[in-house]
Amino acid sequence: MSQTTGPTTGARVVTVPDLGDFKDVAVIEVLVAPGDRVEPETSLVTLESDKATMDVPSPAAGVIESVLVKVGDRVSKGSAIATLEAAGDNAADVTAPRAALRVAEPYGGEPYLDTVPLKPMAAAAVGASAAGSSSPAPSAAPGRHSYDFDLAVLGAGPGGYTAAFRAADLGLRVALVERWPTLGGVCLNVGCIPSKALLHAARVVEEAREMADHGIRFGEPQVDAARLRQWKDSVVTRLTGGLEALARQRKVTVVRGNARFASSHELAVDDGSAGRRVSFERCIIAAGSESVRLPGLPDDPRVIDSTGALELDLPGRMLVIGGGIIGLEMATVYAALGVKVSVVEMTEGLIPGCDRDLVRPLERRIAARFERVMLGTRAESVEATADGLRVTFAGPGTPVPEVYGKVLVAVGRAPNGRSIAAEAAGVAVDERGFIPVDRQMRTNVPHIHAIGDVVGLPMLAHKATHEGKVAAEVAAGLRSHFDASVIPSVAYTDPEIAWVGLTETNAKARGIAYEKAVFPWAASGRSLALGRDEGLTKLIFDPASHRVIGGGIVGTNAGELIAEVALAIEMGADAADVGLTIHPHPTLSETVAMAAESFEGTLTDLYLPKRKASRAKPA
Ligand code: FAD
Repeated sequence: MSQTTGPTTGARVVTVPDLGDFKDVAVIEVLVAPGDRVEPETSLVTLESDKATMDVPSPAAGVIESVLVKVGDRVSKGSAIATLEAAGDNAADVTAPRAALRVAEPYGGEPYLDTVPLKPMAAAAVGASAAGSSSPAPSAAPGRHSYDFDLAVLGAGPGGYTAAFRAADLGLRVALVERWPTLGGVCLNVGCIPSKALLHAARVVEEAREMADHGIRFGEPQVDAARLRQWKDSVVTRLTGGLEALARQRKVTVVRGNARFASSHELAVDDGSAGRRVSFERCIIAAGSESVRLPGLPDDPRVIDSTGALELDLPGRMLVIGGGIIGLEMATVYAALGVKVSVVEMTEGLIPGCDRDLVRPLERRIAARFERVMLGTRAESVEATADGLRVTFAGPGTPVPEVYGKVLVAVGRAPNGRSIAAEAAGVAVDERGFIPVDRQMRTNVPHIHAIGDVVGLPMLAHKATHEGKVAAEVAAGLRSHFDASVIPSVAYTDPEIAWVGLTETNAKARGIAYEKAVFPWAASGRSLALGRDEGLTKLIFDPASHRVIGGGIVGTNAGELIAEVALAIEMGADAADVGLTIHPHPTLSETVAMAAESFEGTLTDLYLPKRKASRAKPA
């Protein structure tokens, strides 16, 4: 976060915060002028290193008195940017820990506002060097202390098992404590993997149906839910079993039971019998999250969460409360398997926070496949009756009450920070249950780290694994820190929607200048050959440098394709880099290159009125 110095009343000097590795970076945009009123977090200037673009946010509300830098200046930590006449002593100072800065949460039921440009974070304990840049120097070599383990990892989800395995590879003696019978956490057991197995089944059904229009007719699918469940479970078992083997190979001790802190160096693990204590020199909390329960719903087995939905007990009609990613993915599965699905979403659009042009193709497709989609509507009450669950609604057109065989509640996920007796270790937990951490994933207790869903948004498995590695490396004495610029998000709906970096929604909300290029998949040979034409690929560029700073894709396999955009952002690639990279033909990946070419004015697959000169270098 930006810092202020100077008197607490009158004008304060806003300075460049700790940028980690970045020193002497260029000011590429000045976003405020004297007299501008700013709020906490309003971007003041944009800085660009050879690795990332970062906004320096205002630390408080107030009025800009003077701007002390101009485009082209070079700044480092502590350089003065502006003077700010603060709005008052109560103006919020946003020198908050890292967790509070993560504003993207596709799986947590909150708007995805995005993470680029990455804001520098308050990082009291962060060392200056980059991840892995120094040689391993485990600080907890066996024998240097009297604890049972060098490291205890609480929770064996993607964050926890990754951390445990990485720490073991770095030479630590590790305990991995897990309350569930299998390793893998929500992701492997009741999240990413089983849902994607079922979504694959849904896709096969849909594709087979659609081939009827193109000359191949299959019969109506005969759905054997029990067999499908078995297959889904077998995929999960294969992966969770694999984790057990990986733990054994690394000599990670798996301790089963429900863990709570007994002190800052000890966990009490309740395994249903005598229980045991696990003492540790260092600890990583990876306790994850759980589905949010809506108050006032009947205690009835027909009211389910995403875990219940994966059991595939198919009703005739189902209502999904919540039009976010998890709700829509499960709705996609159930609709393909023949269930009449309705979705009720409180906000005005599905997948709140995602750019509307990306969501529109999904909205159009499900309008024809789902029984009903109610936007701007609230499920008011659910009553259990013999005939089903009677739901009343409040919203436009005052929808009449309806009776459903099942109601799936998918309104977000809540962190498990409050269920591990963190206070016994002195670990701070915020009012929502998140555990604030710095860029080395350290909590306020320096030898205890936290990672994954329990530290903040977005709640995504790939964020958890990345953080797990950082925490393990720091626990082992390396000077790693979290320095990824962006975290991609994917809705594995049909069509898939994926986005990364700056979104238009976020840019507009924050007044960030951007340019964009869109390539419609109706002009993609591969897309047409797949029988689909509704997709689009959009790239967002920094207007000054033409670097890719965001992107969104809707269409078949968007989740696979977005990785290239993420890489482009991390590598600081500009439109020419992407457009001049030869992509294989015919592929959907070409649409990324073609979006870049469209920005460059070199695209030949579409006729676009000239908008800018080609950046192709003269011969
Ligand atoms: P978790 O996976 O939640 O693991 C936490 C572990 O800690 C659990 O095993 C839990 O039993 C254990 N634990 C908790 N408390 C204790 C305790 N007191 N004692 C012992 N053990 C404890 N993310 C994606 O990136 N892509 C997707 O496609 C995707 N799909 C999803 C689909 C669904 C239906 C759901 C529900 C989630 C999905 N997610 C997806 C989100 C993803 O599953 C989570 O972000 C990820 O699992 C978080 O990992 P984690 O390690 O932080 O925690």
